[in-house]
Amino acid sequence: MSENRLLIVDDDADFASFVGRVAEQSGYDVVAANNPDAFRGQLASWQPDVIVLDLRMPGTDGVELLRELARDLVKAKIFLASGVDERVLDTARQLGTAAGLTIAGTLLKPVRAAELRRHLESVKESDTPIDPADIARAIERQELALHYQPRLDAASGRVSGVEALIRWWHPTKGLLMPGQFLSVIENSIAIDRLTDWVVAAAVRQVGLWRREGVEIGMSVNVSARNLGDLSLPDRIAGLCQAHGVPHETLTVELTETATMQDANRIMDILARMRLKGFGLAIDDFGTGYSSLVQLRRLPFTEIKIDKSFVGEMLESKDSSVIVRTIIDMARNLGLVPVAEGVESERAARKLVEHGCHDLQGYWISRPLPADDLRAFFEGYGPVPWMASAGRSPEAATSPSD
Ligand code: C2E
Ligand code: CA
Ligand code: CA
Repeated sequence: MSENRLLIVDDDADFASFVGRVAEQSGYDVVAANNPDAFRGQLASWQPDVIVLDLRMPGTDGVELLRELARDLVKAKIFLASGVDERVLDTARQLGTAAGLTIAGTLLKPVRAAELRRHLESVKESDTPIDPADIARAIERQELALHYQPRLDAASGRVSGVEALIRWWHPTKGLLMPGQFLSVIENSIAIDRLTDWVVAAAVRQVGLWRREGVEIGMSVNVSARNLGDLSLPDRIAGLCQAHGVPHETLTVELTETATMQDANRIMDILARMRLKGFGLAIDDFGTGYSSLVQLRRLPFTEIKIDKSFVGEMLESKDSSVIVRTIIDMARNLGLVPVAEGVESERAARKLVEHGCHDLQGYWISRPLPADDLRAFFEGYGPVPWMASAGRSPEAATSPSD
């Protein structure tokens, strides 16, 4: 067992002792600093794994401290806390991430103990950290698996495709979700091995389904780091050919990130993907960087609305407006709007009403292993109210608004 060291920086003694108590119960060693200088001292001498940082402090502010942490290449996982407002927290989160820090989450005060505990547990180091070189071994020993999450075409109420999501059955750590290992892999060349494996497995699976008479689309996630390699479109095309899968079946999902800097290279790769007939989705839309610039410049075919907006759209007016606006914009640009994180029928109905084209989320299904999907395909849908509503949002009335 490795230690887990947590440093809390807050001039609010009550909050600091609350975090300290919860963290200790979760197995952390805790040190608190109540001013920036004490914080700098502890940071250097004690090297915490996790930092809880209050954005508002006398003498400095959290954003300034974040800049310092980025400059010093601090690797700790950082939680940002504030009683101010959620937008400030979110902006600080984006700034920190763009600067290369690991922002593990935001805490809007007052924070509930259960919520804090869940956050702290999720970033705990169990034993040895993941080494990118482990991926090669994981592939050889068949520890990687894809789960597939179905998505619905709102016009027909039927499954239109699946998204492949990676899982790692680690020999000592158990089942790992992508959030637990991807960032490490993405920072190394191992990400090319991983993506090749993912695309090969996904294309093979969609080929198997086609031979069984199930014709659906397949979406795969590609990391921005993969776009450093100009051979990517040809490698993917080669895999499709080997498995008899038409290019139109495959959509590549790309998350816009601060690392998408080499615009010419990216345009080159994405343009060739499109020329070959692959679909191109911009993932997590609304959360990343210069979304609108990317949209105009890059040949996307589909926009995936980030699940944070979809998840909040029923409660938050702001999120609801954002979701509707993205749907409208996508349609006006001739792109397919896809909502992810659809967790309830109410959300699904709202999205269809707004003209969303495809829906994905736990309300339809969690990501499933291929074996379980066969039964799902047979037993599911068409969702009656979708099939009857059709896709005519212009004509649809919206009594519930
Ligand atoms: P993503 O591409 O945005 O994928 C959707 C994530 O949301 C998945 O998490 C999925 O399980 C989860 N999800 C689906 N429906 C719902 C819902 O209704 N509510 C909520 N709260 N969550 C839902 P997962 O599988 O943990 O993947 C996390 C991220 O890891 C993915 O986000 C994607 O960015 C990345 N990822 C997954 N597989 C791969 C891969 O093969 N290659 C690369 N490069 N990235 C991958
Ligand atoms: Ca995705
Ligand atoms: Ca997404």
